[in-house]
Amino acid sequence: MKIGPLPKDLDLRGLASRGVTIQGTASIEALPRLCEAGIGLEQLVVGEFRFSRDEEARYLVETSVKASLTLVCQRCLEKMVLPLTTGSRLACVWSDSEAETLPSGLEPLLVEELADLNEIAEEEILLAVPVSPTHHEDCITERRSYAPDEEPLLGAEPDKESPFSVLEKLRT
Ligand SMILES: [Zn+2]
Repeated sequence: MKIGPLPKDLDLRGLASRGVTIQGTASIEALPRLCEAGIGLEQLVVGEFRFSRDEEARYLVETSVKASLTLVCQRCLEKMVLPLTTGSRLACVWSDSEAETLPSGLEPLLVEELADLNEIAEEEILLAVPVSPTHHEDCITERRSYAPDEEPLLGAEPDKESPFSVLEKLRT
């Protein structure tokens, strides 16, 4: 299924009243706090947001965020890819004091009139990223036995014969 970018400027409480589910993707351009943290994306982030109301008339958002991040391994300082799936049950609140009244199992989501789903997805990812990410394997010792795998650039394949070398041949 093809899904579009996550919408911005949404009335979350209105969506919760209607029981809507929204799916979408986010590119790194829509996630500036990840950029600031030095985190890149291997592929687009995919988010699903299920909006509902509970018996206490709270406005709930159940999130499911899938990401494949590129980070720097804190042991060998090489690039590493970290697949991540995270989810939360959030309740829309207007204020910190309202947040304190939430039961356990519900995280407060401070929203004014409108909210940006990209920001929510970004927050979920930042909370799930380990403080000091490292490769699973013992990468320092592995690197001694393997040469770094350098991917050849697309189109870097040498031409069979450049027009200049043909000219050279004609001249001689
Ligand atoms: Zn490493």
